[in-house]
Amino acid sequence: MTHLYVHVPFCVRRCSYCDFSIAVRKHIPASEYVDAVLAEWRSADQARGALATLYLGGGTPSLLPAHDLTRLLTSLLDAFRSTPLPDAVDSVEITLEANPEDVTDASVRTWRSAGVNRISLGAQSFDDRVLKWMHRSHDAARIGDAVRTLRAAGIENISLDLIFALPDELQRDWGRDLDHALALRPTHVSLYGLTVEERTPLDRWISRGATKLPADDRYAEEYLAAHRRLKADGFEFYEVSNASRPGFRSRHNSAYWSGRPYVGIGPAAHSFDGLARRWNIRAWEAYRRAVAEGRSTVESEEVLTEDQRRLEAIYLGLRTIEGVPVTDLDRLGPSLTDLVARGWILEESGRIRCAPEGWLRLDALVAKLFAAKELAS
Ligand code: SF4
Repeated sequence: MTHLYVHVPFCVRRCSYCDFSIAVRKHIPASEYVDAVLAEWRSADQARGALATLYLGGGTPSLLPAHDLTRLLTSLLDAFRSTPLPDAVDSVEITLEANPEDVTDASVRTWRSAGVNRISLGAQSFDDRVLKWMHRSHDAARIGDAVRTLRAAGIENISLDLIFALPDELQRDWGRDLDHALALRPTHVSLYGLTVEERTPLDRWISRGATKLPADDRYAEEYLAAHRRLKADGFEFYEVSNASRPGFRSRHNSAYWSGRPYVGIGPAAHSFDGLARRWNIRAWEAYRRAVAEGRSTVESEEVLTEDQRRLEAIYLGLRTIEGVPVTDLDRLGPSLTDLVARGWILEESGRIRCAPEGWLRLDALVAKLFAAKELAS
């Protein structure tokens, strides 16, 4: 089965916290972009089993004009027509990341008829002051309008992205934002704690003392409050940052977390064949030139050693509600017993998984594991 990721690098502006590989453009070179991505796709020696999921991420894929998006999706889906299963497009999960301001009756009709059946909507907050601070280009009202427009056009599988742990001075009411999000009845919610990435506007504001991140305890309070609130509403946190209603987990992202191979095309896209990971040239212009000159778009690759693969499987497993077999962690010895006693991790039916309090400390837990591995080797 193939899990295909397509990176669409264009945004109309850069959000204050974002360090993704994007190209800020007023007018996006959509036709040239689609030509380049399809040329990469045709030239690459990709293993093509039946298509299971296709994810258009970015950047802002919802900026692609109707004609270009349709050409991109039709060409990619056509490449899989000869494979045996699944042959009905609706059995393939096709996700498009969208910003609320791009969701209109016309754009949704295009997405739907091109095969899109899942939308990941960059909501982030329902507070207009906060959205302005984030440099988002939508206001709060636009999020509700977008969800209603999607639903009216038959797209029910809607995920909302929200960012928590914002600076104190914004006085963001996290509970109110969760209420607003849940009132829209999404099938899926992704939560991201604000982090400071180098060379972002937020990084500069912090360097000159104009703002600062909140204390760790507020990060923890908001994360755990989201767990309680979403659980009460029928959601299950199936991954450290992702919660869904039953039957609505992201199948594409679940493939990443379970260590399955995936193929990425477009600038900065990553691929994994089960043994090696490779990634494309990040910058749009350099990527475009490589394609035009018939050169490889791959910037670099790493072949994972057996040890790396095993540790990565543990790390990814601990991110999910499935966890990992207890035998994978037994080298933690007394530390493991201690973590269970604190209620940070749970041991059930021969498997270990993180409680929400453990997910809060996932990086520390994994560091402990790596240290134990060093000692053991
Ligand atoms: S829309 Fe998304 S990718 Fe674009 S700048 Fe904002 S956060 Fe980054």
